[in-house]
Amino acid sequence: MRIFNTLTRRVEPLEPIEPGHVRLYTCGPTVYDFAHIGNFRTYVWEDLLRRTLRFLGFRVTQVMNITDIEDKIIAKAMATGASIGEVTEPFIRAFFEDLDTLGIERAERYPRATEHIPEMLAIAEGLQAKGLTYESQGSLYFRIDAFPSYGRLSNLERREIKVGARVDNDEYDKDDARDFVLWKGHREGEPSWDGPFGPGRPGWHLECSAMSMKYLGESFDLHTGGVDNIFPHHENEIAQSEGATGHPFVRYWMHAAHLMVDGEKMSKSKGNFYTLRDLVARGHDPRALRYLLLSTHYRTPLNFTFEALARAAGELQRFDALYVRLGEGARPAGRNDEFDAKAAAIETEIRDALADDLNVSGATGALFRLVREANAALDRGALPAGSVEELKSLLGRVDAVFGVLTPPEATLLDPEIEELVTQRTAARKAKKFAESDRIRDVLASRGIVLEDTPQGVRWRRAVAGAPPD
Ligand code: AMP
Ligand code: ZN
Repeated sequence: MRIFNTLTRRVEPLEPIEPGHVRLYTCGPTVYDFAHIGNFRTYVWEDLLRRTLRFLGFRVTQVMNITDIEDKIIAKAMATGASIGEVTEPFIRAFFEDLDTLGIERAERYPRATEHIPEMLAIAEGLQAKGLTYESQGSLYFRIDAFPSYGRLSNLERREIKVGARVDNDEYDKDDARDFVLWKGHREGEPSWDGPFGPGRPGWHLECSAMSMKYLGESFDLHTGGVDNIFPHHENEIAQSEGATGHPFVRYWMHAAHLMVDGEKMSKSKGNFYTLRDLVARGHDPRALRYLLLSTHYRTPLNFTFEALARAAGELQRFDALYVRLGEGARPAGRNDEFDAKAAAIETEIRDALADDLNVSGATGALFRLVREANAALDRGALPAGSVEELKSLLGRVDAVFGVLTPPEATLLDPEIEELVTQRTAARKAKKFAESDRIRDVLASRGIVLEDTPQGVRWRRAVAGAPPD
């Protein structure tokens, strides 16, 4: 596997510390609201990365944090009079539901910030012991000019660093390279924990250092997030972790470009966002969204439009149509060796494309070629049972990575739909065309597409939001 490493700005072979086992940390959601589909671009890509690593034979241990204490959560709690838990619990539940809706595999662990305060304090104390911090007005700050490699990940020039200037906010711009807060002194109305620096709460960055090192070790392989995480979040994580342990923190960093709307980053604060739930409520199929988010290379910004979503749904229908054909009727036994060899070569091509820094368009291009080859062979009656079985298992292997190619079971089997299709065929045979048209309309209103072929009527469920055939 070769990946683009943000730290070195090069594509490099991924060589985990323990051969064959990738330890992966992915920054997770801040649970003060529903995640938007921009966030899901990053999470879906991380799922593609995880699945690709497994496809290539790696074992993966993935940890994703849940940020359940942070400025925006506290602001919401204070505005509504709710407790922190009352603000976060519904959105933690919603987050896991959304992961399932999008077919995102579960990480091995989802640690919560509020359950790791002692680990965070231990790092802060370690930093203090090494002279990398100072206290001011009850808060503890990281002294960035005492950490010589500060700015390496985000390519900050030393001159941009403002010595002695502080920032208390969890999020800030690159122009604001300042000493950042590790522990925020207690403020009226805010939740707080006791600790060696007095009552207060952790800054956002500290949690990811504490939870990643606790579960993956002081040095681990791979850390990811969206490009907005590079500065300050990941830069600060490196400073805190390496400052405290004296060891290299993470060897490879990968970052996904943003999901955009009209040339701007999709974000809560700009108000230009959709949640997954918005799209599902408008009748869009989450499979189509997953496919749309996956199919642009992760380092290229992706502009979200409803036309692009409809196109993605249309492309999935081509896979669904093939699945339906592969499930049909009796076929002669045996194999088509020429076809099998072509299919095997395409699988290798898909594997190589994914192993090349997740070249998805290379992989999907090869996959569509396979769909065309398979349809052509089926048209010629040249795909015997053995080759069909092999093709199905090949598609299954590839779909362990994409997670969108296999139509849901209910899409393929539905006795009620089968019955209506049989009735329509009977009506047509009896030349009761008004009746057969009526049944066709009933089926269409339920999203069923019919195709009359020499082998009989074929039906499939339209992918919601796809343009008409
Ligand atoms: P947050 O909840 O803001 O910390 O974001 C969670 C994850 O979503 C982080 O990895 C962000 O980098 C990522 N993210 C936020 N906005 C976008 C966007 N418009 N496109 C892609 N990823 C995003
Ligand atoms: Zn993080």
